[in-house]
Amino acid sequence: MLSEFDLIKRYFAQHTITDPRIVLGIGDDCALVNPSPGMQLAISTDMLVSGRHFFPDADPYALGHKCLAVNLSDLAAMGASPVAFTLALSLPEANPEWLDQFSRGMLSLADEYACSLIGGDTTKGPLTICITVFGELPPGSALRRDAAQAGDDVWVSGTLGDARLALAGYRKEIKLDPAAQQQAAQRMHQPTPRIALGLALRGVANAALDISDGLTGDLGHILERSGMGASLHIDSLPAGPVLSHQSLATQRAFTLAGGDDYELCFTAPVAQRSAVIAAGVRSATPVTRIGSIDTAPGLRLLDDFGQTVSLQLTSFDHFSSP
Ligand code: ADP
Ligand code: MG
Repeated sequence: MLSEFDLIKRYFAQHTITDPRIVLGIGDDCALVNPSPGMQLAISTDMLVSGRHFFPDADPYALGHKCLAVNLSDLAAMGASPVAFTLALSLPEANPEWLDQFSRGMLSLADEYACSLIGGDTTKGPLTICITVFGELPPGSALRRDAAQAGDDVWVSGTLGDARLALAGYRKEIKLDPAAQQQAAQRMHQPTPRIALGLALRGVANAALDISDGLTGDLGHILERSGMGASLHIDSLPAGPVLSHQSLATQRAFTLAGGDDYELCFTAPVAQRSAVIAAGVRSATPVTRIGSIDTAPGLRLLDDFGQTVSLQLTSFDHFSSP
């Protein structure tokens, strides 16, 4: 039987931290961190609960990846670069096989983004994974939700809807062949945090966030915080490669309101169009212009003919969904 301390040592404290910003990592009462000189800390927490955010039998490697990826995605959406994270873990049992895969999935992504695991807490209980991530950015450079300006273009990174399509496949709402289900599921289980794009958009974009609950709902947060409205060209929305084989109605519904995409939605002045495109190229991340910000409250959806489209759409809300 693994003791709590052995477990931490074996699975989570295996790496020697070489980042000079980390003065002290796992093992003491607190970790000690020096942000780079002149930088501001960006801090975010995300909790993933078994049966709510992932299936109880989820592949542990993919789960480890996803838990950290969704946190890094928040740093990306702020334009911050990763520094370190802490991990609070509630586990029903100390299963070595599971812990080995879970920690590998998490720590390989951490290595990729030079984000060190510096501490946490471990307890027995229902499977719950809570990560707090620490990033840094120059003061005044954050891509805040309240910074959208009238006339800004609205942009989105990558593609939307494949993660929602995978869920529809699992739920048998839509029949997918096994190859399509697997490709879409990859998007659902192993999202890519758009860190490089977030950094490239500093000084270029005004407002940004990451799309976790669905484009319309999440863009709504920017509109509300900025006191603005927006029009979106629904036929410009970049559907995921698997979703693009579905009906137009499904493509519209899942690009607009599918969750779990972890793409960035951001606004930028029209004068920055070529700078946004250059940021996309520099970060090797596709970017698509999908609409514009204006002062009329609310979100309007327009088709290719400029006609208003009304869709009964709500994005995912943990308290109103079963
Ligand atoms: P405390 O008694 O202060 O809560 P713990 O015994 O829980 O300390 O933890 C010992 C050390 O291990 C601390 O440095 C803590 O940050 C770290 N730690 C505990 N759980 C984890 C975990 N799941 N991942 C990384 N570090 C952890
Ligand atoms: Mg503790």
